[in-house]
Amino acid sequence: MPRKAREVPDGYRWCGYHKAIEPIEEFTGTEHSCREGKYLYHIKRTYGLYEDDFEQLFAQFVGVCHCCKERAAKYVDHDHSTGKVRGLLCYICNIAIGYRENNLNLFEQVDDYIARNE
Ligand SMILES: [Zn+2]
Ligand SMILES: [Zn+2]
Repeated sequence: MPRKAREVPDGYRWCGYHKAIEPIEEFTGTEHSCREGKYLYHIKRTYGLYEDDFEQLFAQFVGVCHCCKERAAKYVDHDHSTGKVRGLLCYICNIAIGYRENNLNLFEQVDDYIARNE
C-alpha cells in the first residue's frame, strides 16, 4: 500500500503557510494554504509586510479602521507612489481613499454638487 506523504484526518487539510493541519472549512478550493495564510502571503508579497508587522498595525486600533475608527479594518492601505504602508482601512475608507487619489477634487465636487441641489 503506498504511503501518504502526510496523514491528514478526514475533514482536515495541511496548511502550507501555518505548517499545520487545519479544518477544511478554512480553505477555499484547492489552495495549499488556509484563507488567512493566503492573505498573509498576499500582504507579504504586495506590501512587504510580515505577519508581525500586520498584527502590530491591527492591534494599534484594536482591529478597527485607522481612518474612521468605526468599522472593521480589512484592507492594507499604502501610498501608491512610495509603496509605504499607511495603515489599515475598512471597506468604505479604502474605496474613498482610492477615489480621492485618482481625483483630488472629488470631495469638493461632491460637496459643491450637493450644495447646488439642496
Ligand atoms: Zn493556515
Ligand atoms: Zn474606515
